[in-house]
Amino acid sequence: MHSIAVDGPAGAGKSTIARRVAKELGFIYVDTGAMYRSMALYFLRHGIKGTEEQKVSDACSDIEVTIEYEDGEQQVFLNGENVNAFIRTEEVSMMTSDTSKYPKVREKLLSLQRELAQKKNVIMDGRDIGTCVLPDADLKVYLTASSGERARRRYKEQIERGIQCDLGQIEKDIIARDEQDMNRAVSPLKQAKDAVLVDASDMTIEEVVAKVVSLYQNR
Ligand code: C5P
Repeated sequence: MHSIAVDGPAGAGKSTIARRVAKELGFIYVDTGAMYRSMALYFLRHGIKGTEEQKVSDACSDIEVTIEYEDGEQQVFLNGENVNAFIRTEEVSMMTSDTSKYPKVREKLLSLQRELAQKKNVIMDGRDIGTCVLPDADLKVYLTASSGERARRRYKEQIERGIQCDLGQIEKDIIARDEQDMNRAVSPLKQAKDAVLVDASDMTIEEVVAKVVSLYQNR
């Protein structure tokens, strides 16, 4: 099986790029953030706070996360319920970063992610794909962009979804989330030694997609 790992900070365009590269190469796109988001949704719904590690860890055994594909789009199921429509709010984003640092939460999803990569050719995006989940990926990309640019993209995305939001607040949230994701003890976000750095600040989506496809083909 072949695999491409795409890591990077929030809002760098990982999912947009990975989805398009998957189409071009005939790979499956695996969005690991959505899996962590579905667990965060469970904690929120059950009134568990992000600071309560013990409660979060205990709740992990009551959670089952599964993945299915409908028309090539990943659907995440939380205990049998398709939760794709509920996991993209800013509240869920912050809760996800608050809880994805706990070892029990990470353990829960690691095997699911590796299993997917064993069965299919995948392009998988997240924070620790190149460093932890798929250390032997055929290609590792670290995709980034300036925080201002990332905030503008996330803002546009939320407005298109009909979600009211504030650009300044989004930038603050993005910076706080990156800070937490980069400085946690377990599987922090960092560029793998053998990853190619792609700074998308001044690149169009098409340019980044073409770059990743050519990096894969010429690896
Ligand atoms: O990529 P996305 O913004 O959906 O990720 C949401 C959060 O999930 C991240 O801020 C991070 O805390 C967590 N995450 C992670 N490891 C991954 C993917 C996401 O810790 N592989």
